[in-house]
Amino acid sequence: MKAVLYDAPRSFAVHDVPRPSPGPGDILVKVLQSGICGTDLHIHEGNFFAEFPLIPGHEVVGTVEAAGSEVEGFVSGEAVAVNPNINCRHCEYCRSGRALLCPNLKGMGTNWPGSFAEYLTVPYQFAYSVEGIDPDVAVFTEPAACAMHGLESLGPRPGSTALIFGAGPTGLLLAQLLVHGGAAHVTVAAPTEFKLDRARALGVDETVLLDREDLGATVRKLREISGGGFDLVVEATGSALVGEQCVPLTLNGGTVLVFGVTQPSDRVSFSPYDVFRREITIRGSFAEINSFAAAIRALRSGRLRTTGLITHRFTLDDYGQALKTLQTDKSAHKIVVTV
Ligand SMILES: [Zn+2]
Ligand SMILES: [Zn+2]
Repeated sequence: MKAVLYDAPRSFAVHDVPRPSPGPGDILVKVLQSGICGTDLHIHEGNFFAEFPLIPGHEVVGTVEAAGSEVEGFVSGEAVAVNPNINCRHCEYCRSGRALLCPNLKGMGTNWPGSFAEYLTVPYQFAYSVEGIDPDVAVFTEPAACAMHGLESLGPRPGSTALIFGAGPTGLLLAQLLVHGGAAHVTVAAPTEFKLDRARALGVDETVLLDREDLGATVRKLREISGGGFDLVVEATGSALVGEQCVPLTLNGGTVLVFGVTQPSDRVSFSPYDVFRREITIRGSFAEINSFAAAIRALRSGRLRTTGLITHRFTLDDYGQALKTLQTDKSAHKIVVTV
């Protein structure tokens, strides 16, 4: 089968590789299409737990091609999305219901064969039916699950005001969940006007153009429109400079959510006295593991919308072009790679 195969960071080619065969508890998934994610850029550089050789790709929709003898609950040809985070089920974290903290966690497309390929195998417990959902919507299942987990991590109080820095696809899914999850007002700040247009079209109350050259001006504007700050501030850009603004923009008793992927070496400073005196909570939200079913329900009902988020499509052969477009093209939002 055809697959994008890295032998080392920044070194990949589209190869013919043996088609995987499913074990007794596995499903063989025929890939229809996969989304490219910001983390795929980190993986390209060898970060984000990447292990080589590697077939990347973790946002997949496909169909059941074959199933092992122990697989239950799926029929041949059924449309499925695959949860890419595979926990060990043995460690103390897994046994205490905190699977995402598993130190042995495997990530499809990170340190386990991923979906930029014609086929992949996965333990059937990690496959979810998306039968009847448009594949262009179902391809957002994994980012929608990450957004669901972000909402869980935030635990917003009803009537909160929220600010999200960043208007990438996952950030806009989280923004919608906040809109529908009881927030009184949701603002998105991002550096790209066309992404802010999309944010407004998806139901966000207010948008602010983030000026990276003059972050101070953006912060002043945000203070002005909010009357001082926000109950919830989400950092979804992955920029440490933006991260630096989160605590000061959070109202007393509020919560900062670290949702974007920074470089491991990045540092953000804040005043511990300020966090102490104003009882600010700082939380992290990494990926997802238990929120796939909830994400699929929200996508199926249309409560979570993806209209207009897919801006580019490439084939497997053009994976390099797809990565480059995500990196450099300001008009790229979600890029989908079809098989
Ligand atoms: Zn992703
Ligand atoms: Zn574990």
